[in-house]
Amino acid sequence: MSEEPKYDMRKLVEADFEKHYISQEGKGTAKYGKLVFELPQEYNEIVAEGDPIDYVVSPQAYFRGASQIPGAEFNSSFQIFVKPFFLDKVQHRHPKDEYLIFLGASFPNVFDFDAKIEFTIGKAEESETYIIDKPTVIRVPAGVYHCPLNFKEVNKPVLFLAAAMMPMFGGIYDMPDGTTQEMYYNGPMQCKYNAAKKCDSCGKCLYEKWERE
Ligand SMILES: [Zn+2]
Repeated sequence: MSEEPKYDMRKLVEADFEKHYISQEGKGTAKYGKLVFELPQEYNEIVAEGDPIDYVVSPQAYFRGASQIPGAEFNSSFQIFVKPFFLDKVQHRHPKDEYLIFLGASFPNVFDFDAKIEFTIGKAEESETYIIDKPTVIRVPAGVYHCPLNFKEVNKPVLFLAAAMMPMFGGIYDMPDGTTQEMYYNGPMQCKYNAAKKCDSCGKCLYEKWERE
C-alpha cells in the first residue's frame, strides 16, 4: 500500500506556504534560507594607476560563490562597461570551465550592441583572438589558456559576466621563472568569521553546508 501524497504536485500553485523576505531577519532559520542570497553592492577596488575608474558602472554585482551560498560551484561578475578598458592582460587558465558572456546593456533590448571587444584563446603562439561585436557567450574549458581581454570600443553599455564553475574566483598563472602560481580573489568583502578582517581568500568558508544542522 502506497502512502497518499501530502500534496498534489499539480495543485501546489494553490498552496499557501510560509513566505520569507530575503534579508537575514526575513529568512531566519528557514530550511532553504542559505540558498537565497541578497547580492551586496560592490565597488571595484583594483584599478591600476592611469586607468579610468569609471569604465564600469558603480555599484556592481558579483556572486562570490561558496562564501555566499554554501556549496556553490559557480561564481560570476555582473558588470556594465561604459568605456574602453583593458580588463585582463595576463594569460592564465582555470581548474574548471569559465564562461564569458557579453550582452548589450541598453536595456531592455540585450541585442542593442555597439562595442568591439578582443578576447584571446590558446597558449602563447598558438593563440587566436576573437572580436566580439555582437551578443556572445564563450566557453573556456578547464585548463585552456586565455586572455588578454580588451574592451577596445564601447559605444553602448555592455553587460559582462565572467562566470567560473568554481566555488571562488581564481586562476593558474605561469610565472617567468617557470613555476606556476594559483591565485584567488573573493572581492573586497570582510571575513565571514572576523568582521574586522578583510577577506584574504583563505577558503575556510568554502566548506560550509547549505543545510541547517
Ligand atoms: Zn579566466
